[in-house]
Amino acid sequence: MTDKIELTVLGCGSSFGVPLSHNIWGNCDSTNPKNYRTRPSIYLKKGDKSILIDTSPDLRHQLITNKIDTVDAVIFTHAHADHTHGINDLRSIALINKKKIPVFADKNSLNTIKNSFSYLFTKNDKHGYEPILQKNIIDNEILDLNGFKIRVVKQNHGSTDSYGFIFDDKLAYNLDIKHFYDENYLEGIKGIKCWFVGCLRYEDHPSHASYEEVMNWTNKVNAKQTFLSHMTAIIDYDTEYSKLSAKNVYPAYDGLKISL
Ligand SMILES: [Zn+2]
Ligand SMILES: [Zn+2]
Repeated sequence: MTDKIELTVLGCGSSFGVPLSHNIWGNCDSTNPKNYRTRPSIYLKKGDKSILIDTSPDLRHQLITNKIDTVDAVIFTHAHADHTHGINDLRSIALINKKKIPVFADKNSLNTIKNSFSYLFTKNDKHGYEPILQKNIIDNEILDLNGFKIRVVKQNHGSTDSYGFIFDDKLAYNLDIKHFYDENYLEGIKGIKCWFVGCLRYEDHPSHASYEEVMNWTNKVNAKQTFLSHMTAIIDYDTEYSKLSAKNVYPAYDGLKISL
């Protein structure tokens, strides 16, 4: 079996996406397709097994665009709507492939998701739908899943927590984050092959690190390649690319594929 991780960025926008409703593009050049950002999610494949990170509200569109017809597991970063509200789109995947999809999240997120989408987890007489998801609780731990070794990392996201993941010691994914609880985290991923980090906007935000903080982090980590994700319409692709690419830091874009 191959050891390579094939990563596809399904969405790298923040909760509003780019453009926002009413076709608002902010600072983004609307003629550059790399500025069209759906809500955040990535898809990882290794051999014939796959893992989806988060179920963006744009999931159906993302699956069609990227010709994805199997999802062998889902891991949630947290329960916010921009990361979970496409969960219903897993129904068609599970029904067509005739198998339940295991989903992994921390206890609180799983409770929130299950409260809103109980019909996906349990059958009851009112709706009669067959459950299509099977739940698994994760916390700070190492997870062996579908040939991936995944380190699960609790991180602060303002008034709540979210989770980051390190896959096979070569891909780190830390999206909705204000600060790291583990003060040695950045040192621990120093020089990693690929790092996806949330970079919402330039100004400070109660639940997200500021641009300046994120830039300090990228300097410390000095990954072979760093990709900014979870970006609002304030952050224009070409503007950031010209500022950062010399340091191997790049804005992500929907449809970006990386082999690791
Ligand atoms: Zn969030
Ligand atoms: Zn988010």
